[in-house]
Amino acid sequence: MLGLMQDQPLLISTIIRHAARHHAAAEIVSKTVEGAIHRTTYAEIEPRARRLASALRQLGTGLGARVATLAWNGHRHVELYYAVSGMGAICHTINPRLSTDDITYIAQHADDTILFADTSFAPIVAAIAPALRARLRAVVFMTEPAHMPDIALPPGMDLLCYEDLIASAGDDFAWPALDERSAASLCYTSGTTGRPKGVLYSHRSTLLHTFASNLKDVFGLGAADRFLPVVPMFHVNAWGTPYSAPMAGASLIMPGRHLDGASLADMMNTERVTCSAGVPTVWLGLLQHLRASGKRLESVERLIIGGSACPPMLMRAFGDEYGIRVDHAWGMTEMSPIGTYNRPKSSNADLPPEPAFRLREKQGRAMYGVDMRIVNDDSTELPWDGTTSGHLQVKGPNVCAAYLGDTPGSALDAEGWFATGDVATIDAEGYMEITDRSKDVVKSGGEWISTVQLENIAVGHPDVAEAAVIAARHPKWDERPLLIVVPRPGITIDLVSLRAFFDGKIAKWWQPDAIIVVDELPHTATGKIQKMALRDRFRDHLMPPG
Ligand code: ADP
Repeated sequence: MLGLMQDQPLLISTIIRHAARHHAAAEIVSKTVEGAIHRTTYAEIEPRARRLASALRQLGTGLGARVATLAWNGHRHVELYYAVSGMGAICHTINPRLSTDDITYIAQHADDTILFADTSFAPIVAAIAPALRARLRAVVFMTEPAHMPDIALPPGMDLLCYEDLIASAGDDFAWPALDERSAASLCYTSGTTGRPKGVLYSHRSTLLHTFASNLKDVFGLGAADRFLPVVPMFHVNAWGTPYSAPMAGASLIMPGRHLDGASLADMMNTERVTCSAGVPTVWLGLLQHLRASGKRLESVERLIIGGSACPPMLMRAFGDEYGIRVDHAWGMTEMSPIGTYNRPKSSNADLPPEPAFRLREKQGRAMYGVDMRIVNDDSTELPWDGTTSGHLQVKGPNVCAAYLGDTPGSALDAEGWFATGDVATIDAEGYMEITDRSKDVVKSGGEWISTVQLENIAVGHPDVAEAAVIAARHPKWDERPLLIVVPRPGITIDLVSLRAFFDGKIAKWWQPDAIIVVDELPHTATGKIQKMALRDRFRDHLMPPG
C-alpha cells in the first residue's frame, strides 16, 4: 500500500522557489571580479534564473546537456546553479586552478556544450577554446556588455554576454517537473593520481544532502544567518552551501576571488557574517591578518573547517583569542561532500576542557544519510575503539556509485561500500578521526605512523608556517617519517627545539628521522599539499648514497 501524501519530486528548483517566496528579502551580496559590491535577493535571483534557463533553451540546451562554469563565488554563479539544474541540464563547475591541460581534458570528457566564465578567466578560455571547438558552441562571459573581454574564439563558437542573454529572454519559463534521479550537477575530483574523475550528482542526492547538512549538528544554518562560503563553488558545490543557505533562508555573502585574510576580515565585518566555511589554509591566512592588524571579527560566531585536517592550533587560536567556535568537518567530492561533522553529544557535553578539546579535533560523527566503517586489508570490519585504525568506507544516497563514463556501481565493492582512501579510527560514540590517506601513511617495520598527527604537532611550533610528513624509504624499516617544514616569514627554524617539540606528544618511534626546511610546499588545485611531488623529490633522502 502506498502512502497518501502529495507526490512531489525532490528537485533543486524547489529550493530557489522556496527561498524566493518565503525568504524574499534574504540577500546575496557579491564582491564582483571588478571589485565592486553587488547586492540582490532571493526574490530577484529566482526570476533571473528562469530567464537564464529560457535563454539556455533558446541556445539549444536540452535535458542532460552539460553546461560548464569557470567562476568564483558570486550571484551569477548562484543563478547558473539553479537555471542549469532547474531546467534539467547539468551544471558542470570547473576548477580554474587546474592546469589548462586538465581543464581541456575535463571539458572534453564531460562533453560541455556551453561555457560560462568570469571575465578574469578570459586567458584560460582563450587557451582551451581551440581544443574544444568540436563540441563547445558558445562562451558566455558573466558580466555586463561594458566589461566584455576582447578575445577571439574559433569559428562557429559564439561569444555572448550574460546580462544580454538575461535581458533578451522572456520570463514565462516554468520549472519543469523532472525525475528526481536525473543528473543535476557534475564535479571532477582533483586527481592527485591519474586524470580527474567526474562525480555526477542527482536532484535527489543533492536535496537529501541539503536537508541533512542543515541539521543542527551539521551546518545548521538558519534564516538569521549571514553565511560566507570561502570554499569555492567550483569545489564540490561549495560544500552544498548554495543549496543549504537558501533552503534555510540564510543570506549568502560571496567573496568572489578576494580570499586573502584582509579581504575576508573586511567583508565579514561590513556584511555582518555569522558563519563561514573553508579549508585550513584560508583560516591560517585570516588568523595571521587578525594578529598582525589587531582587528577582530565582530559578528562571526562559527567557522567550519574541512577539506584537510584542521590543525588544533587554529581551533585554539580562534577560540581563545577571538571567541569564535571552530567546527571540524570531513567529506569528499564523492560524498556531495559532507560525511562527518563534529559536535558534542549529551554524553560528552560535560567533559573537562582538555578531553573536550581533544574530542573536537576529530573529524566528527556521521551525518544522517552516511554510514561508515573501518576495515583491514582483507575487508574485515574493525572495532570502534578509538585506537584501531583501518581503511574508511562509506555508504549512502549521497555517495558516488560510479564515476562518469564508468559502468554502474563500479566504484563500490561487493557489499556496496565506497572506499574513501582515508585511514581512520572510530570511537565507541561514533566519532571518526582521520589518521592518514591510505597512500600517505608511513609503514615503519609493518606498523603505521600517522603523517597527519605529526604535521599537526609541527604546525603547532611557533617557528613553523606549514608542514608535511612523507614516507621516506629506509634500509631497515622500509619507511620512516620525514618532516618537511616551511618557516614563518622572517624566522629561522630552531631545529633542536622543533625536534624536542614532539617529545611526550607521540610514541618515541614516531619521531621523524629527519627535518628538511624549504621555502614553500607544492599545493594541489584545491589547496592541499601535494605529497606525491614531495615523495618524488625526497623519497630517497634517508637512503645511503648510491
Ligand atoms: P573536498 O573537496 O571535500 O576537499 P576532495 O574530494 O577534494 O574533497 O578530497 C577529499 C579528501 O580530503 C578526503 O578523502 C580526505 O583525505 C581529505 N579531507 C577532507 N576533509 C578532511 C578533514 N577534515 N581532515 C582530514 N582530511 C580531510
